[in-house]
Amino acid sequence: MSSTAQKPKYHVVCRECSVERLYDDGDEATDLERKHTKETGHRIVVGRVK
Ligand SMILES: [Zn+2]
Repeated sequence: MSSTAQKPKYHVVCRECSVERLYDDGDEATDLERKHTKETGHRIVVGRVK
């Protein structure tokens, strides 16, 4: 893996259970957020990490 630039990462955390993941792609992060919220009704927080 040769990364020339630092990509922003998306840190997805559920405040109501132990779900926590890191994504390079914001779309995937949003996808998990939506899915998890829909399935469980939990509150997800998406943060940006560099
Ligand atoms: Zn949850």
